[in-house]
Amino acid sequence: MTARVLVVDDIIANVKLLEARLSAEYFEVLTAYNGREALDILSRERVDVVLLDVMMPGMDGFEVCRRIKSDVKMQHVPVIMVTALDQATDRIQGLEAGADDFLTKPVDDVALVTRVKNVVRLKMLNDEMLMRAATTQQMGMGTAGLANWSEAGNNGRILVVEDHARSASRMVATLEKHHRIDVEADPQAALLRTADANYDLIIVSLSLQESDGLRLCSQLRSLDRTRHLPLIILVNMGEEARLLRGLDMGVNDYLNRPIDSMELLARVRTQITRKRHSDVLRNRIEESVEAAITDGLTGLNNRRYMETHLKSLMAHARANQKPLSILITDIDFFKRVNDTHGHDAGDAVLREFANRLRRNTRGIDLACRLGGEEFVIIMPDTELMRGYQVGERLRACIAAEPFRVNSEIELRVTASVGVATFAGDAETPDSLYKRADGALYAAKRDGRNRVMADAA
Ligand code: GH3
Ligand code: MG
Ligand code: MG
Repeated sequence: MTARVLVVDDIIANVKLLEARLSAEYFEVLTAYNGREALDILSRERVDVVLLDVMMPGMDGFEVCRRIKSDVKMQHVPVIMVTALDQATDRIQGLEAGADDFLTKPVDDVALVTRVKNVVRLKMLNDEMLMRAATTQQMGMGTAGLANWSEAGNNGRILVVEDHARSASRMVATLEKHHRIDVEADPQAALLRTADANYDLIIVSLSLQESDGLRLCSQLRSLDRTRHLPLIILVNMGEEARLLRGLDMGVNDYLNRPIDSMELLARVRTQITRKRHSDVLRNRIEESVEAAITDGLTGLNNRRYMETHLKSLMAHARANQKPLSILITDIDFFKRVNDTHGHDAGDAVLREFANRLRRNTRGIDLACRLGGEEFVIIMPDTELMRGYQVGERLRACIAAEPFRVNSEIELRVTASVGVATFAGDAETPDSLYKRADGALYAAKRDGRNRVMADAA
């Protein structure tokens, strides 16, 4: 993830320290030494996240945050407030000023990187939502429904896995004004509950008496129905190794005990918003525009939508100097399926193929059916190597399990994949598409059931 972070602090040493740590994680860093300078940079440049010191002479951090959040041009930029450890009131004021999250001084490395990554992910989804709204508008279909996201972080369904009664009831007290909470002491029972209820977030204690919370996290990450569910873990100070293992296995965020209620609220809101936006992008397209931009058989976006949107995405990638990859996949010997088992069986294969494609894409990716048995995934902010890995994962997921066509027929299906990455100023949507298609053709020629990347 190549994100631009604006660090704002009146003390040079603090700025330098954060700058060094963020650069080491390959973030691009901009710096400002007071509120005015920060607002000035925000009005001129693309910034993906602001790290904002609270205590500054002149305009303090709260005021800077309020101004960012009340300006339509900047309000989508996430703000992380940097507060003193013992100042709970700072965090209350920060939330009221519109802050997205908090870091306490002295800033811990893991906390820094986790916080920044989380809000940057959220911003990328927001940007993508805005661009898709613009695309449907360009296509003359208005932006029905896509605009009302400000409430997306409220009314979540949350499952808290915690066997310490007092800690659980404190969290419930903090969250119940905005969300619906279930508490479950037993991890295996929690796992079962995720099958019945549609949760937006799961909070897991890592200090359960009878079992290991991390084991539950790993189970939640490996099940299809919970793979995309946000996970927050509760850790004790000094449990660094377990925390890192959790983050490694895909836990989204964490809270240190004793739990600060403002941090809890902020982190819950970020995760729930991110999940909702991601769900919208992945699955649901507003009904008024659905017919014109989706493919009737599979529910994926159609070719017309893909072509319009690819233009916006390429312009965005060019302006922000970000990579963009495109993957084209075509089912191997699909004609034989129709010839042998009939057109309905062919349709069933196409639907199941689309489902597996969906499962292999992030919310920010755009999956489309081009027509026939040919599909495309457009992947913003994705390098060629990563695009190739997505292609390989998709290929393997198609080939691994037979397709159940009806109660009698199961078919082995394979697909070939071509991948190409946006390369510089001369690239057009057409040339990018042609390069991916060329790679796909090479994969077919080389024997099918394989992935080829265009290395140009
Ligand atoms: P290759 O490995 O070279 O891609 O071979 P193929 O047989 O998959 O490719 P070909 O392009 O020769 O055949 C594609 C077939 O897809 C022909 C067409 O009847 C079928 N097809 C296209 N659209 C649909 C559809 O909506 N439903 C069904 N059932 N079949 C379709
Ligand atoms: Mg084919
Ligand atoms: Mg074909």
